[in-house]
Amino acid sequence: MSTAVVVGSGPNGLAAAVRLARAGVDVTVLEAADTIGGGTRTSELTPGLLHDHCSATHPMAVGSPFLRTLDLGRYGLRWRLPEIDCVHPLDSGEAGVLYRSVRETAEGLGPVDGRRWRRLFGPLTDGFDALAEDFLGPLARVPHHPLLLARFGLPALLPARAVAGVWRTESARALYGGVAAHAFRPLHLPATAAIGLSVIAAGHRHGWAVAEGGSRAITDALAALLAELGGRIETGVRVRSAAQLPPSDVVLFDLAPRAVAEILGDRLPPRVARAYRRFRHGPAAFKVDFAVEGGVPWTHEAARRAGTVHLGGTFEEVAAVERAVHAGRMPERPFMLVGQQYLADPQRSKGDVHPVWTYAHVPHGYDGDATEAVVRQIERFAPGFRDRVLATAVRSPSALAEYNPNYVGGDIITGANTVTQLVARPRPALDPYATGVPGMFICSAATPPGAGAHGMCGAHAAASALRHLTRRRRRRHSPPPTAGRGWPGIR
Ligand SMILES: Cc1cc2nc3c(=O)[nH]c(=O)nc-3n(C[C@H](O)[C@H](O)[C@H](O)COP(=O)(O)OP(=O)(O)OC[C@H]3O[C@@H](n4cnc5c(N)ncnc54)[C@H](O)[C@@H]3O)c2cc1C
Repeated sequence: MSTAVVVGSGPNGLAAAVRLARAGVDVTVLEAADTIGGGTRTSELTPGLLHDHCSATHPMAVGSPFLRTLDLGRYGLRWRLPEIDCVHPLDSGEAGVLYRSVRETAEGLGPVDGRRWRRLFGPLTDGFDALAEDFLGPLARVPHHPLLLARFGLPALLPARAVAGVWRTESARALYGGVAAHAFRPLHLPATAAIGLSVIAAGHRHGWAVAEGGSRAITDALAALLAELGGRIETGVRVRSAAQLPPSDVVLFDLAPRAVAEILGDRLPPRVARAYRRFRHGPAAFKVDFAVEGGVPWTHEAARRAGTVHLGGTFEEVAAVERAVHAGRMPERPFMLVGQQYLADPQRSKGDVHPVWTYAHVPHGYDGDATEAVVRQIERFAPGFRDRVLATAVRSPSALAEYNPNYVGGDIITGANTVTQLVARPRPALDPYATGVPGMFICSAATPPGAGAHGMCGAHAAASALRHLTRRRRRRHSPPPTAGRGWPGIR
């Protein structure tokens, strides 16, 4: 039986482990923290309330071509949908309102912008599941659906600003801009349209779902399936050097590229080591979780029914603050996401006290305290919010990096979405998961298709590792020239 070690138990590490275990490989997962799950953990950050530590909303996980094959419902994973996916309120009192339905969203945007919304997102939504097979993986492959991919890919290469120019109303422009800002990139730069287009299309297809009981339910379901397949997970094991790795046929690192470079040291081919050390990280998040009595008193009625609320004002204002953050300047009114997962999943609340999840975009490595800026930005659209706050739990960029070393400098998406890193992350290579050391692979969100709790990076990396094992089996009687020689981690 072949053996594998997976370092890191984020959704990609667990997805990789499950894919390997399903193929009959004996898998051990080593996790640095005391609890598994990486970006998909949930606990009582304030007394009695369930807060998602990181990932909250999951259109990409529901639509993940790999996770959908696993029947995770058998292991307790249930998706819950809010009544409204996302609202982006404006100072004018208007708002962009994103429903799961393309038609309903378009109706709210008026005749002209509504028609344009339908024309852009209708086909992308209808084709989303087919399209996901292509764009939720390495782009340097022959696409399964070339025409559909071209239809998505051409606008995706544009700056988000150019796509926003399609709409006349500020509500439609801001609604699109807020989702595009999930890319953590200035919206005038090329290819910043991609994330907004794909997240909106995924939402129209599958909804901005939350996991019942918190995002940890994704972790728990993957871990239960892994255990059923015979896999093991050890917590409290931080891998710092290759010498710590137990012998195995393959190793997969659910880690940021620089960490892999540290662990593998001079075993890595010099060009790969250089690429991993130069891998670019983006701006940071400043996370504040609140316990709020009676919920957030939003001025805009739709925001009271929305799973996610984007705060940042007009498209132009969001574009300006994203530019500032990218340049290392902390804006007075940062772009923010507010999650009200409890609306779809009431068990997270305690009576009339509700967990409200927020994070603001701040410069990479920002070492100030953005809590007051976060509260003020919420007050701007929900006067009286401050008086309802019973408790807060704050994680600054450095605290996020300490909580999970993959969040270098507070970069919660494990790698800047530069054009180069969007199309070829963590380095340009036919197999982006291969480290260049035989049998060693990288499977974190630093690899295609990037951030999110969809598990697709892990699934693709595991496929790459399985190909390696097959090739090795075929050459059983003439082992490869370097594999395993003098190398503690690889048999
Ligand atoms: C505040 C925040 C909000 C987010 N919101 C969303 C959202 O709404 N929707 C969404 O889809 N995504 C969201 N994300 C992103 C998502 O959580 C990540 O993209 C995803 O978790 C990446 O998964 P991963 O498996 O690549 O790595 P991670 O989840 O980062 O897991 C890596 C694991 O490796 C462990 N580890 C690190 N170093 C070592 C070591 N040396 N030895 C052993 N173990 C190690 C870590 O402890 C961690 O458990 C959010 C993230 C954050 C932080």
